[in-house]
Amino acid sequence: MRDLIKKITEFIEADVKDPGETKDLAVLLRIVTLFGIIYYFCHAVFFAYLGHFVLAFISVGAIGLACSAFILTYENNTNLALLITTVGILLISLAYTLNLGNAPSYHTAIYLNILIIYYKKTERMRLKMFLTVGMILILIAVSCLCDLWPYRVELDEFWSRFILMFNICAHGSFMLGFSYSYGNKFNRSEEKLRRINDNLERLANYDPLTSLVNRRRMTDILAEKVYTFNRTGERFTIAIGDIDHFKNVNDTYGHDTGDYVLSKVAETMRKYMRYKGTIARWGGEEFLLIFDNQDLEGAALLLETLRKDIEKLHFDYKEHRINVSMTFGVEEYNSRTGIDSTIIRADRKLYKGKESGRNKVVSHL
Ligand code: GH3
Ligand code: MG
Ligand code: MG
Repeated sequence: MRDLIKKITEFIEADVKDPGETKDLAVLLRIVTLFGIIYYFCHAVFFAYLGHFVLAFISVGAIGLACSAFILTYENNTNLALLITTVGILLISLAYTLNLGNAPSYHTAIYLNILIIYYKKTERMRLKMFLTVGMILILIAVSCLCDLWPYRVELDEFWSRFILMFNICAHGSFMLGFSYSYGNKFNRSEEKLRRINDNLERLANYDPLTSLVNRRRMTDILAEKVYTFNRTGERFTIAIGDIDHFKNVNDTYGHDTGDYVLSKVAETMRKYMRYKGTIARWGGEEFLLIFDNQDLEGAALLLETLRKDIEKLHFDYKEHRINVSMTFGVEEYNSRTGIDSTIIRADRKLYKGKESGRNKVVSHL
């Protein structure tokens, strides 16, 4: 039984070949037309039983229309299927209303028709509104004129109520199915948009190799830190660190190994900086670190520990053991000189460290 349900679901949810249409609409039309086939079949049997053969014949015609629309959704022609479904629902509902009057509530199906039209993905909102108004006007005209129709069929009290109940249940179930499809479609679109947004944000703010924030994002974070400093006086210290002789790693072991070493060094620094501040890949093998609530000496001490941790790291490559070291220049933010000058001074200290032997933290020029 479960297999059968799975097969039917797969059949209904088969994708469309029609390049101008979405799968959603085709699936909705398949559900509507399948539902319509059962609905009109019940009517055909019912009217034949009551001896109203014209109405039974109309119901058989409706089954034919529903079948053809159903098949068309698999035949690259969702648009034609939509046209047949909506025009079919309109005409059949009008024919029933004309012959049986307003009491059995066949006109409700036309409201469902409006929902189907709006489900279609298109920018032509004016056309949709025009069709909606048109259908409602036709409905008003037929509802007013049905009493004048000479071939009016009169059902007795019991059958009249029976059809009304049947229609309320049928249209209600359709509403339920439609709302469910629409809700699903809406949720899927929202989820898709959210994922695209997250992805774009990640691409814009993070470095793919090291997963650290990139220079662009770090520039914003620095601006936020300056803003907080100006408001609350919360100090911070920045450092620029650069891997020593990294070109040698690339030249000796290859660029891929260089990438691997770079990502591992970044990971070590990211873990170390947790709860201490922020770290970004500032460029190539250069990193910018922000130490929250630290003065120059405090940050220099923390960096010294980090420097030693990095020195202890080793990477095995074939029979070689690769070690790296880093040099850091550190500078406390000063509101008089501003952030750019803080970065420049940290950079100068970094180069002083490079010149004086590397693998060190330089806090004074
Ligand atoms: P120094 O101690 O003076 O910093 O020497 P260095 O060799 O590290 O400095 P240099 O600026 O001469 O070389 C930096 C190297 O870093 C060159 C570049 O190919 C490498 N590099 C930069 N970004 C990446 C990257 O994403 N992956 C790899 N594998 N190498 C990178
Ligand atoms: Mg370097
Ligand atoms: Mg460099």
